[in-house]
Amino acid sequence: MANIEILHPEVRSKIAAGEVIARPSSVVKELIENSIDAYARRIDIVLKDGGKQDILINDDGCGMGRDDILLAVERYATSKLKNVSDLEHITTYGFRGEALASIAEISHFELETSDGSEGSKIIVHGGEFKDIMDSHRPQGTRVKVSDIFFNLPVRSKFLKSGQWERRLIVDVVKSYALINPSIYFSVQEQDRKILDFIAPQSFEDRIRLFFPKRIVDALVQINIKVGAVRFNGFLTRPDFFDRHHMNYLYVNGRPVKYARLFRTITNTYQNPKTPPGFVLNVEVAPSVVDVNIHPTKQEVKFRDERYVLDLLSQAIKTRVFTRVRGVDIQTARYVPTQPGENKSDAKFVQETVLPYPSDNVVEPLTSRESREFWQLHDTYILSQTKSGLVILDQHVAHERIIYESITKGNTGSQRLLFPITLELTPEEYRAYRKTKLLLKELGIEFKEFSAHTVVIDSLPASASVNREDLLDLFKELDGLGNLIKQRNEVAKVVACKGAIKAGQKLSVEEMRSLVDRLFACENPYICPHGRPIVIRFSLDELATRFGR
Ligand code: ADP
Ligand code: MG
Repeated sequence: MANIEILHPEVRSKIAAGEVIARPSSVVKELIENSIDAYARRIDIVLKDGGKQDILINDDGCGMGRDDILLAVERYATSKLKNVSDLEHITTYGFRGEALASIAEISHFELETSDGSEGSKIIVHGGEFKDIMDSHRPQGTRVKVSDIFFNLPVRSKFLKSGQWERRLIVDVVKSYALINPSIYFSVQEQDRKILDFIAPQSFEDRIRLFFPKRIVDALVQINIKVGAVRFNGFLTRPDFFDRHHMNYLYVNGRPVKYARLFRTITNTYQNPKTPPGFVLNVEVAPSVVDVNIHPTKQEVKFRDERYVLDLLSQAIKTRVFTRVRGVDIQTARYVPTQPGENKSDAKFVQETVLPYPSDNVVEPLTSRESREFWQLHDTYILSQTKSGLVILDQHVAHERIIYESITKGNTGSQRLLFPITLELTPEEYRAYRKTKLLLKELGIEFKEFSAHTVVIDSLPASASVNREDLLDLFKELDGLGNLIKQRNEVAKVVACKGAIKAGQKLSVEEMRSLVDRLFACENPYICPHGRPIVIRFSLDELATRFGR
């Protein structure tokens, strides 16, 4: 980490200016961020009088060498940013190089640090350098901030009781501890332990440690990546009501106050009587979020805000409200970056192309808008639109069309010219017996010929199936287990088996018809299993990628 440099004036002028230290909790926030940025695994905080008298924070991070310690307390001195262009790729909490200087200016300040080979300690009082000396300590950093605002009596009058200030500090520590479950955190006031978060933990376990069981039991996990945006966290069920204060929002692991993001979540729940609880981290490429709009770095803004917020609303509806267990949902483990690892996830940086799953984000594509269609690898349909390029996955597009038409009961059946006779295995036959009424409702008609032999003579009008698909259908129905009684689960299997496959050649007319039927659907953007159907590349996106 080290190698601190003073920022060039041009870079300084680009950094949101302002005071960052308002009270003891802002000191704690900045120091915790520094410790996490230094890859600490353990952060211990000791307070006196709610931090008004003393704040002591000790970490086992990478520490600093002698050369860096003097620079660290200079204004605009940072090891995390060099050029203006780095502002686009910030993956550390800090980047302004101001915190230590600001803290040292308004307190009695001591910083003792070692990078494992040499240790040193620096003392600064009210911004005035007092002393620097060798120190023998293990690798890591210890900062002691005493008598905050001793030289600014007017500011110190704004501080509240020790108890009050301590509560604010506890809130700050909690917000970082929650999203960094691999780090041990403790807070102590004199001899009393106030917080103690063991580590390493999974995200889920730390949530359990934080919140009462009744809330934890009402949480639904979301961990879904749509294009280049990942939503990772826990939200309460829509029917859950409780007076809780569980509103933790993060962008790339940074605790944020982002009113629009907050409102998007509460508006999606729609019921003002049951405000949702959530711990949610929105992960995006660092280049698509601006963290440099406020000195405290708590306010951020997505560059394409409307787009990300619409994705979130859609994700909550499809993942939390329906509690759909899709392929992306897994036990969330927030795996923090290891020392030396590049914090920016290369995958995110690469995938800046976003599918548009929400109907109010994108106008539907119709064959009138788009006259030309190409097929790629007999699997994807490509089309040019006014604003760029659209790619559809032909299989999931057709799956959505069939699913909506059969579940709405307006499918109509196509009578087969040559009925298909199927010899079923005992398992498949059992699945057939269990689903035959549902299948009829969904447009599949048959006759039983003899034991285990079924003759299919009508299929949903929208489906395109052969014998193999029908045999697969019964195999998959059998695999549904208990879900076999649920109409929509059976419909999903019928839609999947009835849909054209990847690898199937389509004529331009067939592609045109598929696109028109897809966009006549209620939800043309997400397939019944939760996969995206359409991906758009805007001309702007392409221009950015080509560096135009
Ligand atoms: P910023 O975090 O914006 O870079 P700070 O004033 O908070 O600015 O810190 C200045 C520099 O001091 C950091 O860039 C980092 O190199 C170093 N530093 C601060 N705290 C620590 C720490 N706990 N462990 C290791 N290095 C630290
Ligand atoms: Mg910092």
